Amino acid sequence: MGVDDRAAISPTAGGHAPDAAMIDGFTLVIEALQRNGLDTLYCLPGIPITDLTRRAQAAGMRVIAFRHEQNAGYAASIAGFITRKPGVCLTVSAPGFLNGLNALAHATVNCFPMILISGSSEREIVDLQQGDYEEMDQLAIARPVAKAAYRVLHAEDIGVGVARAIRAAVSGRPGGVYLDLPAKLFAQSVDAAAGRSTLIEVVDPAPRQAPAPDAVRRAVDLLKAAKKPLILLGKGAAYAQCDAQIRALVETTGIPYLPMSMAKGLLPDTHALCASAARSFVLPEADVVLLVGARLNWLLSHGKGKTWGGKSSKDWGGQKFIQVDISPQEADSNVRIDAPLVGDIESCVSALLDALRGNWAPPPAEWLGAVQDKKARNIAKMAETLAKDPSPMNFHSALNVVRDIVKANPEAMLVNEGANALDFTRSIVDMYQPRKRIDVGTWGIMGIGMGYCVAAAVTTGQQVIAIEGDSAFGFSGMEVETICRYNLPVCIVIMNNNGVYKGTDVDPTGRDPAPTVFVKGARYDKIMEAFGGIGVQATTPAELRAAMEAAIRSRKPTLINAVIDETAGTESGRITSLNPSAAKKP
Ligand code: ADP
Ligand code: MG
Repeated sequence: MGVDDRAAISPTAGGHAPDAAMIDGFTLVIEALQRNGLDTLYCLPGIPITDLTRRAQAAGMRVIAFRHEQNAGYAASIAGFITRKPGVCLTVSAPGFLNGLNALAHATVNCFPMILISGSSEREIVDLQQGDYEEMDQLAIARPVAKAAYRVLHAEDIGVGVARAIRAAVSGRPGGVYLDLPAKLFAQSVDAAAGRSTLIEVVDPAPRQAPAPDAVRRAVDLLKAAKKPLILLGKGAAYAQCDAQIRALVETTGIPYLPMSMAKGLLPDTHALCASAARSFVLPEADVVLLVGARLNWLLSHGKGKTWGGKSSKDWGGQKFIQVDISPQEADSNVRIDAPLVGDIESCVSALLDALRGNWAPPPAEWLGAVQDKKARNIAKMAETLAKDPSPMNFHSALNVVRDIVKANPEAMLVNEGANALDFTRSIVDMYQPRKRIDVGTWGIMGIGMGYCVAAAVTTGQQVIAIEGDSAFGFSGMEVETICRYNLPVCIVIMNNNGVYKGTDVDPTGRDPAPTVFVKGARYDKIMEAFGGIGVQATTPAELRAAMEAAIRSRKPTLINAVIDETAGTESGRITSLNPSAAKKP
């Protein structure tokens, strides 16, 4: 915000009437955030931050109050991904802070910019362990899971504290930052003019980092020597918001590309060069792989093993890698990177394009033809499966509907979590626009669902569609009240197969339900009705289609309980190999 708008923020907002010449910690925190365009708080009020939420709202901030801090935190983390500004989560001390910590770690692991602000108890008492209300050394606990952690003790340092938090969150590799604000800070009064003069409008918070010319040359030489090149786009490429350059890179080079889950839609999944349907063919076959904002972590089998054409799980497939990443430490984390290209993605991809223009021959027709063949065969096979209409519905017949709905509403945000609900949606539902698919991310966690829905609706104003496993939904289900309270255009589809993975397990002793099953025939749609939203039970694809279309037309909070065959689903979905007991089964 500009300097002129500052008068609009009255230190007396929220009903307080301090001396007009004085300003307190609450107001300084609010103004410090607003000066940097941070206009939304994802929070849960309580001691000592209740008044901060009230006064932030009175000062014009969007204040979204949740039912559990973990969901507020996940909302803030994905708001950071969507907007490239740190999403701000605000919690109370100890227990609220701990609930938010999960999301802070998630933000750091996923490279999302986020700031977790927690109120805390009195330092003097905490440090002597004298048993304060909600006593906890929060700063020390946050540090290992945060990219940075700061505490502000004096009102005149609030500006610096917020500025440092913003820079740490968005510069270089983005991540989660913790900002500890002790209760006493909020009540400190300082001279208004002097206090405001300490606030900082951060200049260029995420500076561009251009790659070195010799690194660009090395990458181009390697790419030009490739017979079977492949581009791998990760969520870093989606985050970078340089969609035109990414598209130009793919289309200028004519190299087939694979999008990681949250990079789907960076180019439409239906693009001629998209190799998603031929994934298990291109990974082992490619000779040079250009990674753009994607890490060679477990999601890519660490760049080795059978996925990559190696003979055993530790074996390297022989590919050469070019890696575009903002973190200079990422290269060689799992396998040798022959051409690291360190810098921000926009600068790196632009530099590659400049170096390739007029200096590039398309990849060999043999390679492109082989990818197309494989793709065509797999797409035909999938079409056959999707055309079936079994009763009861299975994941495929339900997701065939979702696939059509997303195609007809390409601007809608798609939230996705679960095991089978995740794997099948990722492979069946095509995405058409960048940053529309937001999901379980690097950890493959459950629980992001409703927090992501709220943030997606609040930050984009678009329709949100959530495809949720029945188990996954349970982690954040109470936030349907939040969705109804703020009247957000969210349509939740629960793939209800009565349990985790499937609903058929039994306790061999006959005493209790098996640990993986839920109440049979549960009506999740009634939860939405309890708060005034629309609940629908769908047992056929036609009912699911009608309900989703109605939800999108009305933009009303809607929950569709999609009844799925309880025998449908695989243990651990696609990551069965990580489940020590299931992996042993033949
Ligand atoms: P995926 O799971 O989709 O493969 P990852 O989260 O593993 O994606 O990788 C994202 C990578 O993108 C990280 O290594 C991160 O450092 C990098 N990254 C994030 N933002 C940028 C950016 N603006 N420029 C360059 N690299 C970025
Ligand atoms: Mg299930």
